[in-house]
Amino acid sequence: MADAHFSPADIAANLAAVRERLDAALKEAGRTAAPAIVAVSKQMGEEKIRAAIAAGLKIFAENRVQEAAAKWPALRRERPDIELRLIGPLQTNKVKDALDLFDVVESLDREKLARALADEAGRRGAGPRLFIQVNTGEEAQKSGVLPAEADRFIACCRGLGLAPEGLMCLPPAGEPPAPHFALLAKIARRNALEYLSMGMSSDYDIAAQLGATHVRIGTAIFGLRTY
Ligand SMILES: *Cc1c(COP(=O)(O)O)cnc(C)c1O
Repeated sequence: MADAHFSPADIAANLAAVRERLDAALKEAGRTAAPAIVAVSKQMGEEKIRAAIAAGLKIFAENRVQEAAAKWPALRRERPDIELRLIGPLQTNKVKDALDLFDVVESLDREKLARALADEAGRRGAGPRLFIQVNTGEEAQKSGVLPAEADRFIACCRGLGLAPEGLMCLPPAGEPPAPHFALLAKIARRNALEYLSMGMSSDYDIAAQLGATHVRIGTAIFGLRTY
Protein backbone atom coordinates (compact mmCIF):
# COMPACT_ATOMS: atom_id res chain seq x y z
CA MET A 1 0.00 0.00 0.00
CA ALA A 2 1.25 3.47 -0.83
CA ASP A 3 2.26 5.57 2.13
CA ALA A 4 1.94 9.29 1.48
CA HIS A 5 4.66 10.15 3.98
CA PHE A 6 7.14 7.65 2.69
CA SER A 7 10.18 8.37 0.58
CA PRO A 8 12.74 5.76 -0.49
CA ALA A 9 15.47 8.16 0.65
CA ASP A 10 14.25 7.71 4.24
CA ILE A 11 15.11 4.04 4.14
CA ALA A 12 18.56 4.68 2.71
CA ALA A 13 19.18 7.28 5.43
CA ASN A 14 17.88 4.95 8.16
CA LEU A 15 20.13 2.18 6.93
CA ALA A 16 23.15 4.49 6.91
CA ALA A 17 22.40 5.45 10.53
CA VAL A 18 22.10 1.77 11.51
CA ARG A 19 25.43 0.97 9.87
CA GLU A 20 27.07 3.92 11.64
CA ARG A 21 25.79 2.83 15.06
CA LEU A 22 26.87 -0.75 14.34
CA ASP A 23 30.37 0.36 13.34
CA ALA A 24 30.74 2.48 16.47
CA ALA A 25 29.61 -0.42 18.69
CA LEU A 26 32.00 -2.85 17.01
CA LYS A 27 34.89 -0.44 17.31
CA GLU A 28 34.13 0.10 21.01
CA ALA A 29 34.18 -3.68 21.58
CA GLY A 30 37.31 -4.19 19.49
CA ARG A 31 35.48 -6.42 17.04
CA THR A 32 36.03 -6.45 13.30
CA ALA A 33 33.39 -8.88 12.02
CA ALA A 34 30.17 -6.95 11.43
CA PRO A 35 26.91 -8.89 11.69
CA ALA A 36 24.69 -9.26 8.64
CA ILE A 37 21.73 -6.90 8.68
CA VAL A 38 18.45 -8.78 8.38
CA ALA A 39 15.69 -6.35 7.39
CA VAL A 40 12.47 -7.32 9.19
CA SER A 41 9.77 -6.39 6.67
CA LYS A 42 6.71 -7.71 8.51
CA GLN A 43 3.73 -5.41 7.98
CA MET A 44 5.68 -3.44 5.40
CA GLY A 45 4.32 -3.12 1.86
CA GLU A 46 6.04 -3.77 -1.42
CA GLU A 47 7.02 -0.12 -1.95
CA LYS A 48 9.09 -0.06 1.24
CA ILE A 49 10.58 -3.48 0.56
CA ARG A 50 11.65 -2.33 -2.89
CA ALA A 51 13.23 0.80 -1.39
CA ALA A 52 15.15 -1.38 1.07
CA ILE A 53 16.39 -3.59 -1.78
CA ALA A 54 17.43 -0.48 -3.71
CA ALA A 55 19.31 0.73 -0.61
CA GLY A 56 21.39 -2.46 -0.81
CA LEU A 57 19.73 -4.83 1.65
CA LYS A 58 19.82 -8.48 0.61
CA ILE A 59 18.50 -10.40 3.63
CA PHE A 60 14.89 -10.02 4.74
CA ALA A 61 12.74 -11.62 7.42
CA GLU A 62 9.03 -12.10 7.97
CA ASN A 63 7.24 -13.47 11.02
CA ARG A 64 4.14 -14.97 9.34
CA VAL A 65 4.08 -17.58 6.59
CA GLN A 66 0.77 -16.35 5.17
CA GLU A 67 1.89 -12.72 4.96
CA ALA A 68 5.16 -13.73 3.31
CA ALA A 69 3.25 -15.91 0.81
CA ALA A 70 1.23 -12.87 -0.23
CA LYS A 71 4.19 -10.48 -0.52
CA TRP A 72 7.29 -12.35 -1.60
CA PRO A 73 6.92 -14.89 -4.44
CA ALA A 74 6.99 -12.30 -7.27
CA LEU A 75 9.81 -10.31 -5.68
CA ARG A 76 11.78 -13.49 -5.16
CA ARG A 77 11.47 -14.49 -8.80
CA GLU A 78 12.69 -11.03 -9.75
CA ARG A 79 15.56 -11.05 -7.27
CA PRO A 80 16.79 -14.62 -6.69
CA ASP A 81 19.84 -13.20 -4.87
CA ILE A 82 17.72 -12.13 -1.93
CA GLU A 83 17.59 -14.35 1.14
CA LEU A 84 14.32 -14.64 3.07
CA ARG A 85 14.16 -15.84 6.66
CA LEU A 86 11.23 -16.89 8.88
CA ILE A 87 11.49 -15.44 12.39
CA GLY A 88 7.99 -16.18 13.72
CA PRO A 89 6.28 -19.34 15.00
CA LEU A 90 5.81 -22.15 12.50
CA GLN A 91 2.88 -24.60 12.66
CA THR A 92 3.67 -28.12 11.52
CA ASN A 93 0.91 -27.99 8.87
CA LYS A 94 2.70 -24.99 7.28
CA VAL A 95 6.12 -26.63 7.01
CA LYS A 96 5.84 -27.31 3.28
CA ASP A 97 4.71 -23.73 2.52
CA ALA A 98 7.50 -22.37 4.73
CA LEU A 99 10.21 -24.38 2.99
CA ASP A 100 8.84 -23.26 -0.39
CA LEU A 101 9.09 -19.61 0.66
CA PHE A 102 12.00 -19.24 3.06
CA ASP A 103 15.71 -19.92 2.73
CA VAL A 104 16.17 -20.13 6.49
CA VAL A 105 13.79 -20.92 9.37
CA GLU A 106 15.05 -19.26 12.56
CA SER A 107 12.17 -20.34 14.78
CA LEU A 108 12.72 -24.07 15.26
CA ASP A 109 11.53 -24.50 18.83
CA ARG A 110 10.10 -27.97 19.50
CA GLU A 111 10.52 -31.63 18.69
CA LYS A 112 7.23 -32.01 16.80
CA LEU A 113 8.35 -29.26 14.40
CA ALA A 114 11.83 -30.78 14.07
CA ARG A 115 10.22 -34.09 13.05
CA ALA A 116 7.97 -32.39 10.49
CA LEU A 117 10.96 -30.50 9.04
CA ALA A 118 13.02 -33.70 8.87
CA ASP A 119 10.15 -35.53 7.10
CA GLU A 120 9.78 -32.73 4.54
CA ALA A 121 13.56 -32.58 4.06
CA GLY A 122 13.48 -36.32 3.33
CA ARG A 123 10.85 -35.81 0.63
CA ARG A 124 12.90 -32.98 -0.91
CA GLY A 125 16.25 -34.68 -0.61
CA ALA A 126 17.70 -31.50 0.89
CA GLY A 127 17.88 -30.27 4.45
CA PRO A 128 16.43 -26.86 5.33
CA ARG A 129 18.68 -24.15 6.80
CA LEU A 130 17.68 -23.77 10.44
CA PHE A 131 18.30 -21.72 13.55
CA ILE A 132 16.93 -22.85 16.90
CA GLN A 133 15.01 -20.29 18.93
CA VAL A 134 15.92 -20.19 22.61
CA ASN A 135 13.54 -18.65 25.16
CA THR A 136 16.36 -17.10 27.18
CA GLY A 137 13.96 -15.19 29.46
CA GLU A 138 11.90 -18.35 30.12
CA GLU A 139 8.74 -16.37 29.36
CA ALA A 140 5.49 -18.36 29.30
CA GLN A 141 4.07 -16.47 26.30
CA LYS A 142 7.21 -16.74 24.20
CA SER A 143 8.34 -19.51 21.85
CA GLY A 144 11.71 -21.16 22.06
CA VAL A 145 13.35 -24.01 23.90
CA LEU A 146 14.31 -23.33 27.50
CA PRO A 147 18.04 -22.72 28.05
CA ALA A 148 18.30 -25.83 30.24
CA GLU A 149 16.84 -27.96 27.42
CA ALA A 150 18.81 -26.43 24.56
CA ASP A 151 21.70 -28.94 24.48
CA ARG A 152 19.33 -31.90 24.49
CA PHE A 153 17.14 -30.32 21.79
CA ILE A 154 20.11 -29.54 19.54
CA ALA A 155 21.25 -33.17 19.86
CA CYS A 156 17.70 -34.34 19.10
CA CYS A 157 17.62 -32.23 15.89
CA ARG A 158 20.99 -33.64 14.82
CA GLY A 159 19.72 -37.14 15.57
CA LEU A 160 16.84 -36.51 13.15
CA GLY A 161 19.34 -35.61 10.42
CA LEU A 162 18.83 -31.86 10.69
CA ALA A 163 21.84 -29.56 10.78
CA PRO A 164 20.98 -26.41 12.71
CA GLU A 165 23.35 -23.54 11.87
CA GLY A 166 22.72 -21.20 14.75
CA LEU A 167 20.55 -19.87 17.55
CA MET A 168 18.02 -17.05 17.76
CA CYS A 169 16.59 -15.22 20.77
CA LEU A 170 14.20 -12.43 21.62
CA PRO A 171 14.99 -11.10 25.12
CA PRO A 172 12.16 -10.01 27.44
CA ALA A 173 10.99 -6.44 26.82
CA GLY A 174 12.08 -4.04 29.53
CA GLU A 175 15.04 -6.11 30.71
CA PRO A 176 18.70 -5.42 29.93
CA PRO A 177 19.33 -7.66 26.91
CA ALA A 178 23.07 -8.26 27.41
CA PRO A 179 22.77 -11.29 29.76
CA HIS A 180 20.39 -12.91 27.27
CA PHE A 181 22.77 -12.35 24.37
CA ALA A 182 25.67 -13.68 26.42
CA LEU A 183 23.67 -16.78 27.37
CA LEU A 184 22.76 -17.45 23.72
CA ALA A 185 26.42 -17.11 22.70
CA LYS A 186 27.45 -19.53 25.44
CA ILE A 187 24.91 -22.18 24.35
CA ALA A 188 26.04 -21.81 20.72
CA ARG A 189 29.71 -22.15 21.66
CA ARG A 190 29.33 -25.32 23.66
CA ASN A 191 27.24 -26.89 20.88
CA ALA A 192 29.54 -25.82 18.03
CA LEU A 193 26.88 -23.66 16.33
CA GLU A 194 28.30 -20.93 14.12
CA TYR A 195 25.59 -18.27 13.94
CA LEU A 196 23.83 -16.02 16.43
CA SER A 197 20.68 -14.14 15.40
CA MET A 198 20.20 -11.57 18.13
CA GLY A 199 19.49 -7.87 18.50
CA MET A 200 16.63 -5.75 17.15
CA SER A 201 16.13 -2.00 16.58
CA SER A 202 16.53 -1.15 20.27
CA ASP A 203 19.61 -3.24 21.02
CA TYR A 204 21.44 -4.39 17.88
CA ASP A 205 24.57 -2.50 18.95
CA ILE A 206 24.76 -4.48 22.22
CA ALA A 207 24.10 -7.74 20.37
CA ALA A 208 26.89 -6.96 17.90
CA GLN A 209 29.28 -6.38 20.78
CA LEU A 210 28.36 -9.81 22.18
CA GLY A 211 28.97 -11.69 18.95
CA ALA A 212 25.77 -11.46 16.89
CA THR A 213 26.29 -12.71 13.34
CA HIS A 214 22.79 -11.56 12.29
CA VAL A 215 20.88 -8.55 13.68
CA ARG A 216 17.14 -8.43 12.91
CA ILE A 217 16.10 -4.83 12.35
CA GLY A 218 12.59 -3.63 11.54
CA THR A 219 11.55 -0.18 12.72
CA ALA A 220 15.03 1.37 12.67
CA ILE A 221 15.08 0.72 8.91
CA PHE A 222 11.43 0.94 7.84
CA GLY A 223 9.91 3.25 10.44
CA LEU A 224 7.01 2.35 12.70
CA ARG A 225 4.71 -0.48 11.75
CA THR A 226 1.12 0.68 11.31
CA TYR A 227 -1.12 -1.99 12.76
C1 LIG B 1 9.54 -7.70 14.67
C2 LIG B 1 10.71 -8.53 15.02
C3 LIG B 1 12.01 -7.99 14.98
C4 LIG B 1 12.31 -6.55 14.62
O1 LIG B 1 11.85 -5.68 15.61
P1 LIG B 1 12.19 -4.11 15.54
O2 LIG B 1 12.08 -3.69 16.95
O3 LIG B 1 11.15 -3.50 14.66
O4 LIG B 1 13.55 -3.97 15.00
C5 LIG B 1 13.06 -8.84 15.26
N1 LIG B 1 12.86 -10.14 15.59
C6 LIG B 1 11.63 -10.69 15.64
C7 LIG B 1 11.50 -12.13 16.01
C8 LIG B 1 10.51 -9.90 15.37
O5 LIG B 1 9.31 -10.46 15.43
